[in-house]
Amino acid sequence: MNITKIERYVGVLALPVFLMVVGGISVAVGVKAKDALLLASVAPYLAFGGLGAAVFGVFWMIWALFQMDRWERGSIVGTCPNCGGAESKLDGKYGPYRRCRMCGAKREG
Ligand SMILES: [Zn+2]
Repeated sequence: MNITKIERYVGVLALPVFLMVVGGISVAVGVKAKDALLLASVAPYLAFGGLGAAVFGVFWMIWALFQMDRWERGSIVGTCPNCGGAESKLDGKYGPYRRCRMCGAKREG
């Protein structure tokens, strides 16, 4: 595994992992906050919201890994002129642009 590949994994998996971590913390805080008067009213929302975020993060990560695996085998025909990966449409300061989810290449459009 070379550096570029590690960077790609970090880039693609950072958000889902972040969701899982934040969700997990929310669940832990929500479960504990049941006994704290100040937080008792929001505790269920924290716990269930956190659980939802964590579950969403898990599925997102599985999906991302699956997509990445397909791309590495060459069975994704994306629009990236650089590597053929799937691109995200984004709105930037200088107008809309596309960023490749696999190699990070950016282009206008
Ligand atoms: Zn690319």
